[in-house]
Amino acid sequence: MRRLPGVLIVEDEPAIAELISVNLRHNGFRPIWAMDSTSAQAELDNTLPDVILLDWMLPGESGLALARRWRAHPRTKAIPIIMLTARGDEVDRVAGLDAGADDYIAKPFSTKELLARMRAVLRRRAPERDAGVVTLGELSLDAATYRVTYQGQLLKLGPTEFKLLHYLMSHAERVHSRSQLLDKVWGDHVFIEERTVDVHVKRLREALGEAGQLVETVRGAGYRLTAQTVLAKPA
Ligand code: CA
Repeated sequence: MRRLPGVLIVEDEPAIAELISVNLRHNGFRPIWAMDSTSAQAELDNTLPDVILLDWMLPGESGLALARRWRAHPRTKAIPIIMLTARGDEVDRVAGLDAGADDYIAKPFSTKELLARMRAVLRRRAPERDAGVVTLGELSLDAATYRVTYQGQLLKLGPTEFKLLHYLMSHAERVHSRSQLLDKVWGDHVFIEERTVDVHVKRLREALGEAGQLVETVRGAGYRLTAQTVLAKPA
């Protein structure tokens, strides 16, 4: 039998958690509910889910702090995180993405919308698993082992940055518009704004360190990964 994708729901409101659980179960997922940060951490220490739905406003440690911690930890860093929140403005959305969330959904949301986003993050993660190694200059990405190195040094990248880099490396020296990147990297960009691309490019550059200079902004056009950049000497 096919294994059902596990979804960890971190939500302190039982009514919301129950509603999400019922809907996920009906749609072929295996929901696990944690009502606070402590039980969520205990659950993760035990079994890794395929996706985490993370409420922003939790008693004790906030969803934002949890997202940051899980993204920084080697065991949990590759698990897609979707933030659930009543906060809807762009500053909060960017804060959620900056903390390491892959996507963001504002309450109240429909089951249809939630499922679409979950399928999108799962799809985004799946394709690079069986591809090989791509290199550009001294930058190397191994899709099978999920490792990125520059000058032999291992770099830490979040799942979206990994996918973005994989795409840019596989199509180097070409300029890609934000909407093209959304289409190719995010796949299902119905709910995602072009601003999201900038947030993830910024995070990708930071994660790449010195090699971040290989990611060029092409004014008025988009982004390009190029080996032609003359790397500045680190200060
Ligand atoms: Ca809450």
